[in-house]
Amino acid sequence: MQPALGGAGASACQLHRGARASALPPRFCAALLAAFVIVVPVTAQAQQNFDNVQIQTLPVQGNVYMLAGAGGNITLQVGKDGVLMVDTEFAPLAPRIMGEIRKLSPGPVRYIINTHVHPDHVGGNDALAKMIPQTPGAPLKIIAHENVLNRMTKPAGAETPEPQPGLPLDEYSTPFKDLRLNGEAIIIYHEPNAHTDGDSVVLFRGSDVVSAGDIFTPGGYPFLDLERGGSVQGEIAALNHILELTVPGHTQEGGTYVIPGHGRICDEADVVEYRDMVVIIRDRIRDMIAKGMTIDQVKAARPSRDYDTEYVSKDSFVTADRFVEAVYKSLKGAK
Ligand SMILES: [Zn+2]
Repeated sequence: MQPALGGAGASACQLHRGARASALPPRFCAALLAAFVIVVPVTAQAQQNFDNVQIQTLPVQGNVYMLAGAGGNITLQVGKDGVLMVDTEFAPLAPRIMGEIRKLSPGPVRYIINTHVHPDHVGGNDALAKMIPQTPGAPLKIIAHENVLNRMTKPAGAETPEPQPGLPLDEYSTPFKDLRLNGEAIIIYHEPNAHTDGDSVVLFRGSDVVSAGDIFTPGGYPFLDLERGGSVQGEIAALNHILELTVPGHTQEGGTYVIPGHGRICDEADVVEYRDMVVIIRDRIRDMIAKGMTIDQVKAARPSRDYDTEYVSKDSFVTADRFVEAVYKSLKGAK
């Protein structure tokens, strides 16, 4: 990341940054495009070896923890009522994920919330659900925006899809959904047409933590999945909404913590920096489109070049060209 916007005091966030720096490469949605066939998680599993993946558990704030392994970060909220998780990584990791959950809480897992449809975020749904004993009167609920359920049940080319296990059958179709667990209000916001068309951001109001999904991936350009309803304008709107939900602490450090889809624990200043980057590159490409430049001319002009050293590495899923092309196509209204 570029220099922090706030002061240089050693905040909890910076400690988190130190802990995260060696834990995760800035790579995300690995094997994602190829993995999207019909039964997404199974295909994804076949392409990745999880033998050496270790799950790291990091306390975030209040009742909330972050689990990092392979795939998207998992958010946990734990307390006397049980456990709520946001996203599930991949099925082969389910025993290790459950092992980490059990170190924090012996209670029932009551909710799984999926931030979006990509297999590195929903892949462990079914495997985990099968490991969770059903508690009378408190069944496990899997929640996501209805566009996630629609995409998981209507894969391309399948006329009569078979019901798949681990589906988010407690879907919502309203601008937000709220619930209460462990004495804390939890609000799930739909962020339309951002990373995909089914993105949710989860606010833990008492713990003061936001789980952002892949709308926010520090260390990598956002993946605008145009094929699944993503757009640059929706991405910016979603980042602005996250900024509405966050309140910084002293010298703009700390305060509300933000758990990204991939990468280290962040705070509002990090999201400001990321939002600014997306807006600046969007504006440059918009100007180039207004001048009548073609996609090849825009790529050749390298409108993201001053950000590439921060957001692109050799392992990046979203290269500079891919991001520029996605922004261009999104602004032109083409997939
Ligand atoms: Zn994703």
